[in-house]
Order: sequence, then structure tokens, then C-alpha cells
Amino acid sequence: MSPPRRALIPVLCAILALQGLAGCGSNPPPPDSSTPVAPEGMSDPKGSEARDAPTTQPGTDLSGRTVAIDPGHNGGNASHPNTITRPVPDGRGGTKACNTTGTATDSDYPESDFTWGVGQKLKHDLEDAGAEVVMSRDDNDSVGPCVDERGTFADDADLMISIHANGSESTKAKGFHVIVAQPGRSETVEDDSNRLADAMSKAMADPFTPNTAYGKNAISRRPDLAGLNNASVPAVIVECGEMRNPDEAKTMESKSGQQKYAEALMQGIVDWY
Ligand SMILES: [Zn+2]
Repeated sequence: MSPPRRALIPVLCAILALQGLAGCGSNPPPPDSSTPVAPEGMSDPKGSEARDAPTTQPGTDLSGRTVAIDPGHNGGNASHPNTITRPVPDGRGGTKACNTTGTATDSDYPESDFTWGVGQKLKHDLEDAGAEVVMSRDDNDSVGPCVDERGTFADDADLMISIHANGSESTKAKGFHVIVAQPGRSETVEDDSNRLADAMSKAMADPFTPNTAYGKNAISRRPDLAGLNNASVPAVIVECGEMRNPDEAKTMESKSGQQKYAEALMQGIVDWY
């Protein structure tokens, strides 16, 4: 939006990358082949059947369900570096920077706009199906909330979906991946989060591309993401795609593309239930 903001992004990303935060990454982490993968057949057997149907089908009834949506970052983060770099609890006994600016496409379309657009569309689709929706933020031009609150805001929900997009330096990197906390806060939360990651990966794979460099079925298991660590309910981060990939950038910048992402996420939620 303004020259100072643009200049700040690489600096902040460099600082925050040192702290292991997602969203600013210039390179994907190595494939986590050493981490255990979910057993086959763990997902809802009805999932593959339901995936072929349109997500906003009138028959989808989520009444009585509560879904928490965290659209990653915020439009005002870049202009408030002191606020977003202050340390907050990381959910593992340490601290982490409050938040990051996120990444952007090569035409400077910010991740926060993308996540906000998809989040609003997903909220709309969920409410159409009768679900209650709680959001981690109410607008796209303020600062934060910090990563600890991006877990705890979901305490009364059934599950939490955190929407992000990745910023690999290579324009050849392509596709989505799903991140789940390992270890989880409890065995139950970890099991249900793994089931959610599985459902999300399956739903996103139609029509999007899974980036299996991050793990089997494009699922990455990490101990260091504070939003997930601070969530008491089943939670995943969905890195919807690569913002520097020209094809994916075009989809991410368009309203129709954002609707497609929202519909895939919606399908993952329905399949998880
Ligand atoms: Zn992000």
C-alpha cells in the first residue's frame, strides 16, 4: 500500500523466519519423512463420496456446530512492527513473536487480503449450512491478534481452521500443504487434529495440488507453531498454495479463486464431522 510497508516486509520476514514462523518462509522445510504418518483409512469413509458433490449443497446441515476460522495475519501488521514482534506465549512454555506480516504475490497482493477473502467466504458458506462461526479477527486493516490468541479464541468451537498461503522463493514451488501440531495438547486433540488434517488434505486435493515435499499427503507435523499449540480444540493450518507461483497467484487474487479455496475448506470441515 505504501512504500514503507513494502520495505518492511522482507526485513520483518527475515527476523521472524529466524524464529521459525510460518508464512514468511523463503524455502520449504525438508520433507518430514522421519515423522510418523496417519494410518491409512483413518479418515471418514464417506469422505471420498461426499467430495464429488458441490460444497454449498442445500442438504448440508451443520446446525448446532461451531467452527473457528483464523484468517492468517492482518492488513495492519506491517505498519506496526513493534506490536507484532513482541513476545507472547508459544503454548509450549516458551515465547514467540506476536505475529508476522505474511507473504505476498509478485504483484504485491498480500497474504492477509487472501486469507481474509477466503475466511469471509468460508464463514458465509458455513453459516448458510447452519453452523455458528467464530473469527480470530473482525477486520482486515488492524493489527494482530497475536498467535497465542489465534489458538485460544477457538476454545468454545468444535475445531479451528487457520488459513494461510506460503511464500517460497522459487516460483516453481506449487500446491497446498496442511500443518498439524505434533505433539498435540492431549492425545484426543492430537488424534482429532490428525483426522482433520487428513480430511482437509483430501478435500483440498480436488481441485488443488498437494505439495508432498512437506510430507505424505501434503501433511506436515510440527511442534513450533504457536497458534496450533495454543488451541485446545482440533486445529490445522492450511497453507492454501504458493503466492509466488504465477498460476496459483492468479487464482489467489481472484474472487472466484478464493471461493474455490473456501469450498474445498468447507468440504474438509463437512467430511471431518
Ligand atoms: Zn501466513
